[in-house]
Amino acid sequence: MRIPLIAGNWKMNTTVAEATELVHDMLEKLDKIEGVDRILCPPFISLAVVGELLKGSSIKLGAQNMHFEAKGAYTGEISPLMLTSLCEFIILGHSERRWYFGETDEIVSKKVKAALSSGLKPILCVGERPEENEAGRTEEVVSKQINCGLSGIASCPDIVIAYEPIWAIGTGRAASGEGAAATIKFIRTCLASLWNKDIAQGLRILYGGSVTSNNITEFVSQPEIDGALVGGASLKAEEFVSIVSQTAAIKRQPV
Ligand code: PEP
Repeated sequence: MRIPLIAGNWKMNTTVAEATELVHDMLEKLDKIEGVDRILCPPFISLAVVGELLKGSSIKLGAQNMHFEAKGAYTGEISPLMLTSLCEFIILGHSERRWYFGETDEIVSKKVKAALSSGLKPILCVGERPEENEAGRTEEVVSKQINCGLSGIASCPDIVIAYEPIWAIGTGRAASGEGAAATIKFIRTCLASLWNKDIAQGLRILYGGSVTSNNITEFVSQPEIDGALVGGASLKAEEFVSIVSQTAAIKRQPV
């Protein structure tokens, strides 16, 4: 049984005051929803404050990126060691990191290794660019990202994968539920080849890309899809609570 998971990626949005307000606006309702893991990923500077606000709740905290080294002369970077006392999850290989900041599969792989050895749970993002999608190269691209990103890494139940087609992120043009489920099924076969079928069946794979309260059911009603990584819609308290509660209702139903 895979526990559904909804993670909110706030990206480079919210001041500390705004992050505080956003948590206040959603905390009570979000905390009450059962059967779905809920994770908030605010900017680094709000991790401590949001962590304090979430204390005693069932909501978990994640960061959006980190360096792979524990410490050193890397001005402006944040290390796994700095994060372990603050949060449980870490988003790695987000397409905005890959394409705006030049993160390669090799760098992503080092980050996944560093996260796991520090006790952080990675949410590894993979997904194809629009031109790769149009050229029918989705499987080729995501299998390379999975195989390189997880190369040399022993299987670990804490790893979460997020399939996020780049053409769907922040565009309002979400994938179809069936299309996302097909690629996620393929990702599971990649994980089975890398490790084994049982492990692949046990890992959670999310969909991400323009998820809203209006389309979440299309994704989570697919048995292959274990939840969502939500960007823009996670910045609106009511919208995010609705996404999580609809997920809980759908995943509660017997298949
Ligand atoms: C994301 O940031 O991972 C994302 C999927 O963004 P959005 O939901 O805004 O498309």
